[in-house]
Amino acid sequence: MADTDPSAKFEKISDSASRRIARFIEPFRVSPGSKVNLAKDFDPAFEGGIKKKEDGVALLNEGIELLATYQARLAAQDTYGVLVVLQALDAAGKDGTIRHVMSGVNPQGVRVESFKVPSSRELDQDFLRRYQERLPSRGEIGIFNRSHYEEVLVVRVHPENLVRQQLPAETREHHVWKRRYEAINDWERYLSENGFRIVKLFLNLSKEEQRLRFLRRIDLPDHNWKFSSHDVEERRFWDAYQEAFSEMFSHTSTASAPWYVIPADRKWFARIAAAAVIAHTLIDIDPQYPTLSEDALRDLGAAKVALESEVPSAAAPNANGDAARATPPGKLIQKDG
Ligand code: ATP
Ligand code: MG
Repeated sequence: MADTDPSAKFEKISDSASRRIARFIEPFRVSPGSKVNLAKDFDPAFEGGIKKKEDGVALLNEGIELLATYQARLAAQDTYGVLVVLQALDAAGKDGTIRHVMSGVNPQGVRVESFKVPSSRELDQDFLRRYQERLPSRGEIGIFNRSHYEEVLVVRVHPENLVRQQLPAETREHHVWKRRYEAINDWERYLSENGFRIVKLFLNLSKEEQRLRFLRRIDLPDHNWKFSSHDVEERRFWDAYQEAFSEMFSHTSTASAPWYVIPADRKWFARIAAAAVIAHTLIDIDPQYPTLSEDALRDLGAAKVALESEVPSAAAPNANGDAARATPPGKLIQKDG
């Protein structure tokens, strides 16, 4: 809806604010069709000109507020849905990002789905099936904590996962990853054509920062529960993962669903950047509260008159023998106690 449209009851965010957000996130966007070399092209320690954590707090709060406002409109309009795909290596801060970025949003409008090692039932299905089953509905923001992209990441780095999927031999042997990228791109295009926007975020952590975070999990007693020796074993495959991520970005960053590589060595910066990318998508959707028809407005007026005429006029005694108070028309009737 244009800014000048007199029927637009709820103002759009100013164009300059919207441009500022677009400029801020641009360096993180993977241009569709580009060939990515993750280690060379993206710096995990980038801070985008924000020098201190304190300077970032106001920005994050602004982002959180923006998300809350737009999410309410998204739910009311009930036409579009948003899927946020969150991928990262261990200790990159997926959980904290979800917690902070979504802290202002009505919990009824957001659904977080976490994907772990597939069950035997899931292994007996086509590889996209379990992700399809947990998509958001219209009006909702769905967050995939790990996602269908694990199918070209952990499954590629550890090919025994592919063996477990029991694919027919001919589909397993030739160009399996290329075909998976194509299947994912087709599926995502199908979703966006049906009103579901996809926001793809990769939290980009450096190997050294991961080492420090694992050590902290060992050294701090209240962090011990987060430590997993499996995560440390997986760290041995660091280079293979960097390669699998680079390939994945090169093949699956599309015009309708581009990847954003979020610098994640500073947790506070990663949260600001993630909030900004999600906000950018919601601003672009620009959901509106539904406007009522003339008939519906007339019904509303009639209902108001009927409800107001029900105000008790005489002071009838209640069970305690007190006189009931009449409420003047238009005033809120407050419950006792
Ligand atoms: P956290 O450790 O913060 O609870 P997490 O996402 O790391 O969150 P885990 O239970 O530790 O959760 O790990 C889930 C594991 O499931 C990861 O090692 C991931 O690679 C694996 N996984 C996810 N999807 C698949 C898949 N399709 N095939 C094989 N493994 C998968
Ligand atoms: Mg884990």
